[in-house]
Amino acid sequence: VVRLTDVTRSFEQGGVRIDVLRGVNLTVRPGEIVALLGPSGSGKSTMLQAIGLLEGGFGGRIEIAGIDASKLGKDQRAAVRRDHIGFVYQFHHLLPDFNAIENVVLPQLITGKPRAACEERARELLEALGLGQRLDHRPSKLSGGEQQRVAVARALANRPRMVLADEPTGNLDEATADRVFAQFLQLVRGEGSAALVATHNERLAAAMDRVVRLHDGVLT
Ligand code: ATP
Ligand code: MG
Repeated sequence: VVRLTDVTRSFEQGGVRIDVLRGVNLTVRPGEIVALLGPSGSGKSTMLQAIGLLEGGFGGRIEIAGIDASKLGKDQRAAVRRDHIGFVYQFHHLLPDFNAIENVVLPQLITGKPRAACEERARELLEALGLGQRLDHRPSKLSGGEQQRVAVARALANRPRMVLADEPTGNLDEATADRVFAQFLQLVRGEGSAALVATHNERLAAAMDRVVRLHDGVLT
């Protein structure tokens, strides 16, 4: 379970304080896939960054797998993130000098798992995403849709309880976006992970279990 209680986040800009998140409450149950909608600038990415514990600086409480992250320091936040969270961004952020399978192996190695087991897991995920023939391709040799699918495999590699996706198909044409997103949903469901997916796409949102909307820094 991921639970946000009265989460706030403000930024200082030229001496002016902007309150982006103004008391966000949300519970995502295990395995639940939730769409996060809201106009540009409404704070969707800020909210995902807060839940992903990428930075402190938020107010309120963020609970992940029973751990109250609001009380943790930087290193402890990184540990919770590594153990429980997977990220997919709009742009893939794959390592350009590593091939597809290595990009999925690397985040697993830091958990101390043996390399062979990491490779087996990476292969299983990439094959499930239809990339069995692309394992040794570097990102620059992959199409945009293939790059995003590798990013999905990387996000799921460590069996996160919670996948955070920020416009995961926003950089793809409509047909490719639909295909990649359908595979994403199928894989996340198969893995039993929960997901929170920020998107502008109402059609993608309709395919998820539940839709929440950000308005003026509050979820409805
Ligand atoms: P989009 O749909 O365009 O991706 P979003 O809902 O993801 O928008 P955010 O990126 O979360 O919106 O931004 C929300 C607001 O917070 C914006 O007004 C933005 O300028 C502000 N903001 C975000 N990050 C920072 C920062 N590091 N410093 C100052 N302001 C920021
Ligand atoms: Mg955003």
